[in-house]
Amino acid sequence: MSTLVLEDVTKTYGQGANAVEAVRGVSLSVEPGGTLGLIGESGSGKSTLGRICLGAEAFDRGRLLVGGEDFAGFDRERLAEFRRRTSIVLQEPELALNPRRTLGQSVTEPLDIHFPRLPAAERHARAEHALELAHLDPGLWDRYPRELSGGQQQRAGIARAVVTEPEFVVLDEPTASLDLSVRGRILETLRELQERLGLSYLLITHDMATVSALAQRVVVLYKGVAVETGEWREVRANPADEYTRKLLSAVLRVRTTGTTDRA
Ligand code: ADP
Repeated sequence: MSTLVLEDVTKTYGQGANAVEAVRGVSLSVEPGGTLGLIGESGSGKSTLGRICLGAEAFDRGRLLVGGEDFAGFDRERLAEFRRRTSIVLQEPELALNPRRTLGQSVTEPLDIHFPRLPAAERHARAEHALELAHLDPGLWDRYPRELSGGQQQRAGIARAVVTEPEFVVLDEPTASLDLSVRGRILETLRELQERLGLSYLLITHDMATVSALAQRVVVLYKGVAVETGEWREVRANPADEYTRKLLSAVLRVRTTGTTDRA
């Protein structure tokens, strides 16, 4: 797809004394086939920006550009196409999966919504293919989420996210709910899918290992402001901003004490 760009975006929740400026003048761009990491502590505006990039959250100021076109000017048809071409993988796979639906039904659902005219057999075949892409055995089709492991549930969330053959995917803390032993394999699958399907990723995370595994470039957020933007390798080696230095050293400090790195 086209490059996805945010230009000087500001988003406030609430009004008057209760107003929270969640995002303040943030610009970023996600290149086709690339991964931009959005890093920063909890409450820094990452998820808000993720929703804004998906056209799912209104904002006060700035622009969302898709392939150079202003999202605000999309007509119904362009909007429907944009929705088909974008998706999200959530931190908590349970939230993406309806407990009363089988794995097969959950993975077919985005096709039912976005491609209702496809024959049912074709939707079924595409959903099976998405399961295979996410390294899930199609033999699990009739299982319910509670009958799947955490890793399998996250793979189901990934299959749901790619079944419509999107071009742009927001990964919102894609491994944070998983055991360390499973994380690496999920990241490997995400990398493999990016390459096979030419996906662009906006990766939201506070886990630097996840950033290293997937992202080429990062935006560091602090209280809704992009304090640093650049190549991840550069930023990690030579953080220019005081906050980035703190963020990285906090993670390193936690790591060396042997506990998890929930920065
Ligand atoms: P992050 O993803 O980095 O944890 P968020 O984007 O979720 O950050 O939140 C940024 C700020 O906006 C926080 O102060 C949060 O409380 C606030 N916020 C997020 N969503 C809402 C909402 N729907 N209504 C009011 N405030 C919100």
